[in-house]
Amino acid sequence: MTTIDTARLVAMFAAIAADISADRDRLCALDGVIGDADHGIAMELGFAAARDAVAGLDPAAADPTTIFNTAAKSFLNAVGASSGPLYATAFMRAGAAVKGKAELEDADVVALFRAMAKGIQDRGKAEAGEKTMIDAWLPAAQAMGDAAGAGTDLAGALAAAADAARAGAEATKDMIAGKGRSSRLGERALGHMDPGAASAVTVIEAMRRSLAG
Ligand code: ADP
Ligand code: MG
Repeated sequence: MTTIDTARLVAMFAAIAADISADRDRLCALDGVIGDADHGIAMELGFAAARDAVAGLDPAAADPTTIFNTAAKSFLNAVGASSGPLYATAFMRAGAAVKGKAELEDADVVALFRAMAKGIQDRGKAEAGEKTMIDAWLPAAQAMGDAAGAGTDLAGALAAAADAARAGAEATKDMIAGKGRSSRLGERALGHMDPGAASAVTVIEAMRRSLAG
């Protein structure tokens, strides 16, 4: 059993921001093929803003819900692209999922992933198979729940989530987009990974490393 305090969550946002920043050019290149080439910049701006905002909170006064709500607000303000409201909703829902907790236990982390995936889906209305970040987030949340339900420890469940996200992002290469800019391309999007699914893998992998302890 692990418990995750607010300092760990603040560190998690710093880890995501660093990994997304390192991944920026690849994400822009992926978006350049089937979108408008800004995805890496949008994600870098969003996570840098979230990182700075949560780092500025008083750790003694901020609970996990405050951390996620603060991240949501700053991400939304920093990002004009469609990923802005999608991740902002994910973090708002994460905050709601852990409401009242001073520290997170294993089951809370599972609830957090589920809430984030559901938030992105509710906000963007994408179904699985529509070549979006949902194709990484949904299988990740599902795999995490399945692993935890089977008695796998948190580190194992997080690893299952990251593996499922990677497989899901890979599978977007064979999809035609039903949502977002790339839906205008029809079959011309075939063979190319969705940038939002690619960045979701980076986010989930950074979360795995931070939360597995
Ligand atoms: P924009 O398309 O406004 O330039 P970004 O480049 O930041 O926004 O993000 C593009 C990514 O957003 C896509 O690759 C896709 O994964 C995701 N996306 C777009 N629309 C939706 C939606 N309705 N639901 C889920 N994800 C979406
Ligand atoms: Mg874009």
